[in-house]
Amino acid sequence: MSKNKIIVIGGGYGGLRTVEKLAKNPQNEIVLLDKNSYHFTQTEVYDLIANEEDFAQVTVDLFTFCSGFEGNVTFLKQEVNNVDFKNKKVITTVQRYNYDYLVIAVGARTKFVEDVVGLRTHAHGIKSLHRAMYFKQKFEISLFKRVEESGTSCKPINIIVAGGGLSGVEIAAQMASFSKEFYHKNNFICRKLNIVLINANKHVLYGLDEVLVEKTDIRLKELEIVIKNDRKVVEITQNSVRLNCGEVMQMDFMIFTGGIEPNALVHNLTLEKNRGGYIVSNSYLQAQDYANVFAIGDCTTIYNEGKVVAPTADTAEQMADICAKNITNLIESKPMIEHKIKSRGILIALGRRYAVAKIFGIYISGYFAYIMKKCVEKIYAKRLEIRSRRGCKKIFSN
Ligand SMILES: Cc1cc2nc3c(=O)[nH]c(=O)nc-3n(C[C@H](O)[C@H](O)[C@H](O)COP(=O)(O)OP(=O)(O)OC[C@H]3O[C@@H](n4cnc5c(N)ncnc54)[C@H](O)[C@@H]3O)c2cc1C
Repeated sequence: MSKNKIIVIGGGYGGLRTVEKLAKNPQNEIVLLDKNSYHFTQTEVYDLIANEEDFAQVTVDLFTFCSGFEGNVTFLKQEVNNVDFKNKKVITTVQRYNYDYLVIAVGARTKFVEDVVGLRTHAHGIKSLHRAMYFKQKFEISLFKRVEESGTSCKPINIIVAGGGLSGVEIAAQMASFSKEFYHKNNFICRKLNIVLINANKHVLYGLDEVLVEKTDIRLKELEIVIKNDRKVVEITQNSVRLNCGEVMQMDFMIFTGGIEPNALVHNLTLEKNRGGYIVSNSYLQAQDYANVFAIGDCTTIYNEGKVVAPTADTAEQMADICAKNITNLIESKPMIEHKIKSRGILIALGRRYAVAKIFGIYISGYFAYIMKKCVEKIYAKRLEIRSRRGCKKIFSN
């Protein structure tokens, strides 16, 4: 019996879950392609930046992870440039690979809007690990410089966070909370950190649950974060930011979390896309025109009862489950299932040992919510770590 050749592009939340599900069938021969050698747990970036975690704790080695299966999963660290859908071939920077079924799970990237002068040059994004690491180092160096200056000129550190969505508020809160503890714990005189959150909408977390918005707003203010709603950044230089209202603010550095967009591969693919450039998928998560091609996670947009389902790690994993099930059903000539995905809950970290959450309709905040968030993250990381450790043992025992 011939094997089912399945290629998964992207070892993120959606891609790894798909691999885990499909690998259970020994008849499936799976190749995972990723441009990086690691899986990056973006949901923990706020802890990376505030030194609660190092880069080893927010990454999983994809070679060892894939080696942890029963021999039917191969990882190739190769960037995919395009796909020849008619001839069922994935084209990477190195080679072409045939597939029977294809899963596109390449996520999205930070949208550095071209009409904001200087944005790409002077602002930091955090969606890729190297950018997050660079920003973390810059943050630490700034804290250290102020400690060095302490007692002499001792200027405050000015940080601008542009983007009042989930990642923007989490990072602003974590930096504010971390630096407060850092300066107090060490009794440094210089302890002023000015964090300004620039938000293009009427309030932070636009589109999210009203209670969560209100709780978040209160917490950010407690952390002395200045929120500027209804404002947009229009120009950035090395040390200043100009807003659409004309205000110019001095800054040491700026982090940009103002939006995401499809990445270069999605742009190249000859698939139907929506106005935002995301892959259009049907209710079975198949790309239009190709029954054997599925798109999951942040690179596609899905709807539930006419509303867009927020692109999160949770959504990507739920999509992976449906996608794996539908590939299995196609192989077995059974009917596919339609997705009914909706958010199961939201957990927002707002500084050290504090979070706000809505889980299955119940609101929680404070330390308990923080512990819940940590548990969700740790359970996820543990699952991947066990597989990766198994793979590592196999590699070194050969
Ligand atoms: C700061 C921050 C905080 C967040 N917090 C939360 C949270 O608390 N809860 C939550 O649910 N979600 C959160 N999210 C959102 C969540 O991280 C994303 O929704 C999730 O990562 C999407 O998963 P994915 O599998 O679609 O893509 P990703 O996880 O982004 O993975 C895509 C993969 O594709 C690879 N890739 C891309 N292009 C190519 C190519 N051409 N060739 C080969 N490989 C390629 C990448 O290297 C990557 O490994 C947060 C995001 C950020 C940035």
